[in-house]
Amino acid sequence: MGAPGYEYEVREIVIEMLKDYADELRTDALGNVVAVKRGSRGSGKVMIAAHMDEIALMVSYIEKNGFLRIQPVGGWNAIVLPGQRVTVVTEDGKKLRGVVGIKPPHIMKPEEAKQVPEIKDLFVDVGAKSREDAEKLGITVGSLVVPERTAERLANPDLVTGKALDDRVGLAVMIHAFREASGFEPTLYAVATVQEEVGLKGARTAAYSVSPDVALALDVTIAADIPGISEADRVVEVGKGPAIKVMDGRSGTGLITHPEVKKLLIKAAKEEGIPYQLEVLPGGTTDATIIALNKEGVPAGTVSIPTRYVHSPVEVLSLEDAVNAVKLVRAFLRRASTSWLTSVKGAKLK
Ligand SMILES: [Zn+2]
Repeated sequence: MGAPGYEYEVREIVIEMLKDYADELRTDALGNVVAVKRGSRGSGKVMIAAHMDEIALMVSYIEKNGFLRIQPVGGWNAIVLPGQRVTVVTEDGKKLRGVVGIKPPHIMKPEEAKQVPEIKDLFVDVGAKSREDAEKLGITVGSLVVPERTAERLANPDLVTGKALDDRVGLAVMIHAFREASGFEPTLYAVATVQEEVGLKGARTAAYSVSPDVALALDVTIAADIPGISEADRVVEVGKGPAIKVMDGRSGTGLITHPEVKKLLIKAAKEEGIPYQLEVLPGGTTDATIIALNKEGVPAGTVSIPTRYVHSPVEVLSLEDAVNAVKLVRAFLRRASTSWLTSVKGAKLK
């Protein structure tokens, strides 16, 4: 469970996986984890970032009859929620099973059946008989709710499905790239960020404290290689390699990848025979957007893992794409020399 602002379970795992490989490890007030590995030259800083939080729901009201009303924490499409099993997390960390209730088709009016639900109309049923009963279980206004879902392989064993692969896969890529990173000149900062899904908040403060010269975010992107979407709208496809982002956000209001960062990523992929796709994403963005605006500006890019059904409990991605993303990040780090950093940071002209 890694609801925004409550990433503690994920954070413990991240720290456990990084601590033996870092020269220095710290957390900050918001809960970001920063792992530092000193490079051979010791000057210049490269930051790689992936977010620990997942989209979640929060109990906003407990009804007299014990049903829980919820509000979104992050970008849900309410259509994926009715009929799901969920975990309700109490203040003291107890996990309770619930379901998001749904009216049976038998008693739905025809016009109702066609409607997309809104989250404010949904409710969670934990089996409590009354408000007092729910409170006795430890549920309060503010209790968090996430889908109950384990990660599993599909029939094609290269493809896995689960909730919150956004951005657990980015964390996995970051951790492996950091652990195996060698032969790089600048100091490497691996940052596991908080509250990305609710406005890139952790990345903003982490970037301020790290003050990187160059940064990469590692996150999922939309693979729309599914029925009902025209070829031109597919963005990227699952299984064809990690994506090198060129632009995201509506009309470029997210990240416009720094041209030199994009060039070096493509060069690294080509020279090492790593498959890749170029990505122009028409909506949504990543931590790279806010890191790029840190202090006097940071050349930034994103390596993305193509993922189907993003922000649903059945996200699907290819493990091979994730492995290739690790290779791409490592290849990039080896080429991001101290002199390259100096050249992309901007120059004194007179
Ligand atoms: Zn994400």
